[in-house]
Amino acid sequence: MSSIDNYSTKLLLDIKDNNLTFSNFYLADDQVTKILVAELKLPWSTCPNCRYPLVHNGHYVSHVRYLSANASKPLQIELHKQRLYCQSCHHSFMANSPLIDKHCSIANPVKQKIIQDLTTDRAMTDIAQSNHVSANTVLRTFTKFKHLPQDTDYNYLPEHLGVDEFRGVGRQLHFICVDDDTHEIIKILPTRLKKEIMACFKKFPLIVRSRVKTITMDLNAYYQDLAQELFPNAQIIIDRFHIVQMLNRSFNQLRVQTMKQFKHSDRRYSLLKYYWKSYLKPYNQLEVKQVKYYQHLKDRLTQEQIVEEGLAVSPKLRATYDLMQDFRQALANHNPKQMSQLCDEDVALGEQMKITLKTFKHNRKAVLNAATSKYSNGCVEGTNRKIKQIQRTAYGYRNFSNMTARIRLEAKNAILKENNLSMIA
Ligand SMILES: [Zn+2]
Repeated sequence: MSSIDNYSTKLLLDIKDNNLTFSNFYLADDQVTKILVAELKLPWSTCPNCRYPLVHNGHYVSHVRYLSANASKPLQIELHKQRLYCQSCHHSFMANSPLIDKHCSIANPVKQKIIQDLTTDRAMTDIAQSNHVSANTVLRTFTKFKHLPQDTDYNYLPEHLGVDEFRGVGRQLHFICVDDDTHEIIKILPTRLKKEIMACFKKFPLIVRSRVKTITMDLNAYYQDLAQELFPNAQIIIDRFHIVQMLNRSFNQLRVQTMKQFKHSDRRYSLLKYYWKSYLKPYNQLEVKQVKYYQHLKDRLTQEQIVEEGLAVSPKLRATYDLMQDFRQALANHNPKQMSQLCDEDVALGEQMKITLKTFKHNRKAVLNAATSKYSNGCVEGTNRKIKQIQRTAYGYRNFSNMTARIRLEAKNAILKENNLSMIA
């Protein structure tokens, strides 16, 4: 056992308790764990009940796990808690420290470190290992955080919302609502049922809900009805990505249909099959000068020539292609007028494209908003990707509230306030 300096030890361990004094240290039997010996004194020498002088009544020794600088070398404090006895009222007193809770052998800074670690994308067993605690301790600390009262402010809603759904506990779809400006998660609901969404947002008074200006979403008619009912002044914006995706899919469907009319050895089959990516490229970005040798066609052509030759196979395919390109162009140029005209265009189109246009016409205003608004569903989709990662790291969640608590911890704006941490510890 060697003696150590009390002041510098406390400085290094960031311990401010004046009643605690370090005296020496030794290695445990495993020759790895360092054990610091400290005495914890009671701040008074007379009985707080009857002012009678207290007498010595031994020490209570407990081993407290503490943070160590090197994760492979655990650190423990052998804490000698002073016990005093009052001979007048027969009360006994034991020293206490804000460093550790009663009946607990894990120091509070360790618990704070665990919560800090839980905000990163790490498995609980991993966090347990690096802090020299059991996985159950991590879970217990996490549960404490989970049950902290959440200060939900029903007098505020952001002006720009994004809604979507993601797959989570039990392969179920959960509803998610995000602030489009700050990317903060506003709500995650266990289901996407109308009843639940209504009940959740009806808690906000109508005046608060009326302040919402835009709501971005994918082409889900279900949410549009809900949004109109809940947020009377909000403009619905269909996500740009989903519009383009629907157009591309509709074109691709017709392309495959046309392609299948020909034999595999046919040049037209190869034109439509192997160079599908060129058709989806914006027309003005196609290579027009540089000639390349194409293996499947055994020919030297430019990209534009391939597209033109492929489209010449069928007038219907040509018309569908033109519509897809024009619509995408109009969207990129923020031209809602042209988009509206294209919706009404009456030419022979592929079946799938007809359905797509019908959907656009049905949600005309919301689709046209996509061209003029700077908001899109990008941030919700990004949040969903992050949630997917959280679920993967945990090998899936079985409990919805555990999942949302962890998402809350790992969220971008989860700034852990000091008082928040002290509430857990
Ligand atoms: Zn007393």
